[in-house]
Amino acid sequence: MREHLQGKKRIVIKIGSSSLTHAATGMLDLRKLEKLVRLLCDLRGEGRDVVLVSSGAIAVGCTAMGFGKKPDRVEEKQAMAAIGQARLMMTYQKLFGEYQQTAAQILMTKNTMLNDLSRRNARNTFEELLKLGVIPVVNENDTVSTYEIQFGDNDRLSALVAALIQADLLVLLSDIDGLYSDDPHQNPQAEFISLVPEITAELAGMGKATSSSGVGTGGMAAKLEAARIATDAGADMVICNGSDIENLARVMEGQETGTLFLAHKNLNFDLIDYISR
Ligand code: GLU
Repeated sequence: MREHLQGKKRIVIKIGSSSLTHAATGMLDLRKLEKLVRLLCDLRGEGRDVVLVSSGAIAVGCTAMGFGKKPDRVEEKQAMAAIGQARLMMTYQKLFGEYQQTAAQILMTKNTMLNDLSRRNARNTFEELLKLGVIPVVNENDTVSTYEIQFGDNDRLSALVAALIQADLLVLLSDIDGLYSDDPHQNPQAEFISLVPEITAELAGMGKATSSSGVGTGGMAAKLEAARIATDAGADMVICNGSDIENLARVMEGQETGTLFLAHKNLNFDLIDYISR
């Protein structure tokens, strides 16, 4: 079931803030970033199109300014994102540069996707960059995205990017191993689900139950929503644990790692429909 992943040509990889930073201090985990960048360069080297969706702008801004935790005020968060995004990119550029790999920054808002003209422009830019062998590094433009125009989370953003550029695989590097039948922190009987051929109503309910339990807040629900977007758009999606970056290599080798959601292209797929939900 997993071998076909070896043949994927256009891959979007999403990494979350918790996988990029040290839990104790919130500082960037440079060894992990190093490994991630090296792996992405290898995927490029194998001739694949690679897009990275990276969180971490706010977290990096907070450590730069000595904030112990994420501020509550929107303006402060936006200021942290403005500081942190530049620092984050500086680190990525340095690491990609070590492997002679060119990277580019793409910052998106919900409006970029909703507006026909800017969506077309964004798609063209992605296509052009990928044609040039560049790795785009994507994040939400948190500095200008207020609540009303937010994607909400980067799981969703990465699925929408995968749909926009017709990627054939989306990998979410997360702080959990994948999908469980129940919250494994609360229920030791929870079973790991390694393959999801279809996102049924029952499964969607599981995600909601997990988020309302308060652990991994919204985490699984957001990931299931991303899976619905990606698989409906025709991409397979894998959730795996980003605490070990090698898991990404395992996924690409077709090993049993994480949860695989199988693509089932919905012929009526309309990106706008999915963004506005
Ligand atoms: N865009 C946010 C950041 O870079 C992260 C959003 C998310 O992780 O879902 O800080």
